[in-house]
Amino acid sequence: MSSDLVIVYHRQPYEEVEENGKIVFKENSSPNGIVPTLKSFFGSVDHGAWVAWKLAEDVNDPGFEQVVEISDSYGTYSVSRLPLTAEQVTDFYHVTSKEAFWPILHGFRERYNYDPVDWKNFRDVNRAFAEAAAAEAKIGAVVWVHDYNLWLVPGYLRKMRPDVRISFFHHTPFPAADMFNVLPWRKEIVESLLACDIVGFHIPRYASNFVSVARSLFDVEEIVRVRVDDDFIAEGTALTERTVPTHITHNDQRVQICTAPVGVDVNYILGKADLPETAEQTAAIREEMGDAQLILSVGRTDYTKGGADQLESFGRVLEANPQLRGKVRLMHVSVSANRSMAAYAEVQDTIEQTAGRINGRFGTFDWTPITLISRAVPFAELIAYYQAADVAWITPLADGMNLVCKEYVAARTDGDGVLVLSEFAGAAVEMGAAVITNPYSFRSMDNAILTALAMPKDERRKRMALLRKVVQKYDIRAWGDAQEAAFNEAMKERSTV
Ligand code: UDP
Repeated sequence: MSSDLVIVYHRQPYEEVEENGKIVFKENSSPNGIVPTLKSFFGSVDHGAWVAWKLAEDVNDPGFEQVVEISDSYGTYSVSRLPLTAEQVTDFYHVTSKEAFWPILHGFRERYNYDPVDWKNFRDVNRAFAEAAAAEAKIGAVVWVHDYNLWLVPGYLRKMRPDVRISFFHHTPFPAADMFNVLPWRKEIVESLLACDIVGFHIPRYASNFVSVARSLFDVEEIVRVRVDDDFIAEGTALTERTVPTHITHNDQRVQICTAPVGVDVNYILGKADLPETAEQTAAIREEMGDAQLILSVGRTDYTKGGADQLESFGRVLEANPQLRGKVRLMHVSVSANRSMAAYAEVQDTIEQTAGRINGRFGTFDWTPITLISRAVPFAELIAYYQAADVAWITPLADGMNLVCKEYVAARTDGDGVLVLSEFAGAAVEMGAAVITNPYSFRSMDNAILTALAMPKDERRKRMALLRKVVQKYDIRAWGDAQEAAFNEAMKERSTV
């Protein structure tokens, strides 16, 4: 019970590596992602704690210390490692979260898999997370819970510790009631979320959807709505909303709805972009390309990312535009994360087959239209590709935010390059200056990439300048500031109760 801020996030905030037979804790080698931002919050409190799981054969005798103190460049903080068996992890994370929740969150009802879910295990794991957080939190502390795999934590925690402030951030989309309510555990999940002081989302649409779901299941007494800031209105695009809820009241409890898009660490990217070795790599890629244009696509292998649909579009474009053959190359990075899961293995196979078919149909001895990369490209190298690419082609079918498109823009210190972005990525509401495309339409997809390839320099620069302004303004620090402002408001409300 010693921390003012407890972060509950399924992944540990460091890497455990063995050096000379001893386990040492090292800062994550990849500085992108949300973990460093979350850790930076420890700098503004007396003491912080992090709760994550760690694999154990026997949870009652895990063979490791449950709570350790870590000192790194973010200060000294506790890490509580919740022992879970491989079976518990598979059930709670790979089955319940990825096979049941993930498709519903992204609107893929047909991929939803109910049968293998062990709901008791999901509850047990979430309760254990809540107990670990309760053990670390000081009286009146803020407990900050992340993502849908921990949906039940707030409900359990509220019962254990009525004194703490609970904030929950969703890193994914949040669907409307007719999709969300496919989940038979809907009431239990939403009841838990309504036990929070703050529920957070990337964009107004997800916040509105959450309120629609809450209203479908419970009596919600009051909903306060405000007009959406113009910065988050991309006129006429699929995810844009005109108003956003900021508070709801349920059972006389006020729940703050915090809407703030996660951004990228622009300063970090600029630092990398400025390095001579990045410039050298960028020049080498450009030289290799000759006078051909480079289209870059980067994402995880997931049916939500629409990788195969994009490759099909490229195939159609090459078919209909023979003048582009030999003059354009697509580098398609699709990192396969969960090869062990059947759904992901199937997507990977489709991508490989589609790329192979198109390369076979159009490729020549000196020109391969698609370079498919299935392993993760190190971030520093990715920046060189961002800088060298004429077009970034980011076309998910559904995506909570999408950081790759923001990284591309942040890396374009030359002010050039074209972003083609799906209107179903959360980022699209901020990035209306991109070439916005609808990945559910062949015509829209094919026209968007053709428009990007043919775009005159003036227009490219004009659009990129607008995009750079937005990415800079809503960088990762702006997101952190919004979260902090929400915590402060929650604290103030508590002191006036
Ligand atoms: N990424 C990377 N190397 C790769 C592919 C992706 O470092 O080969 C990083 C990318 O830079 C970005 C993150 O992985 O920071 C992907 O985040 P995004 O929000 O775009 O998608 P998510 O995978 O979270 O759905």
